Amino acid sequence: MKKLIAGNWKMNGGLAANEALLKAVQAGMGSPDCDVAVCVPAPYLAQVRALLAGGAISLGAQDVSAHEQGAYTGEVSAAMLNEFAVRYAIVGHSERRQYHGETDALVAAKAKAAMAHGITPIVCVGESLAEREAGHTAEVVKRQLAAVVHECGHCITEIVVAYEPVWAIGTGRTATPEQAQEVHGLLRAQLHAATTHEWRVRILYGGSMNAANAAQLLAQPDIDGGLIGGASLKAPDFLTIIAAAR
Ligand code: PEP
Repeated sequence: MKKLIAGNWKMNGGLAANEALLKAVQAGMGSPDCDVAVCVPAPYLAQVRALLAGGAISLGAQDVSAHEQGAYTGEVSAAMLNEFAVRYAIVGHSERRQYHGETDALVAAKAKAAMAHGITPIVCVGESLAEREAGHTAEVVKRQLAAVVHECGHCITEIVVAYEPVWAIGTGRTATPEQAQEVHGLLRAQLHAATTHEWRVRILYGGSMNAANAAQLLAQPDIDGGLIGGASLKAPDFLTIIAAAR
């Protein structure tokens, strides 16, 4: 299974900046050994779809509605994303759990809605600093993943999981490769209890992964790629991470 390196642009970008960034990434990427995606703000899906056409980078969204259609002002449905050739949708990013009150059940419903329209959800799980310090890391990430396993049933092999310790996101503080591997191992075991094809599920690490630390993290047996925030906005850094994923 190829590793996956997915950029999460968060609420950054602009028409000119997006084009410059993607042109630089495309020019430097060659034929990567891994799968590559960029998860962009919804208004830029059409622009980025056109910029990526025919190339090796897949298009991703940063969220998706749990609803099919209708009176849900401001939301974007999986069917709409599908019309723009979106391949991946991040669900349950900690920023959405934290600032938008997304629950485990809602995140699971979003994952299911994405899959119903052929979009691979990148399901984010991760503990806060207080939860880690209280020794609750395993319990938190297992609870978050269990909601998705429960909702998705045998389709669980179609998801991507991203372990993103909240204390490492955007902080410059990265989990050590050993800390990350420990949690990835737990998540793999949990998936194994739900499917004998748990090896098909890519478990990404996210949280201040950068050009300097990517290779060591990606060398861990259960780290199958990265979800990259800040470093995905800098072409040379993103390219270094892509090159480290083999
Ligand atoms: C993220 O937002 O998913 C993330 C991992 O951010 P950063 O790489 O900036 O910590």
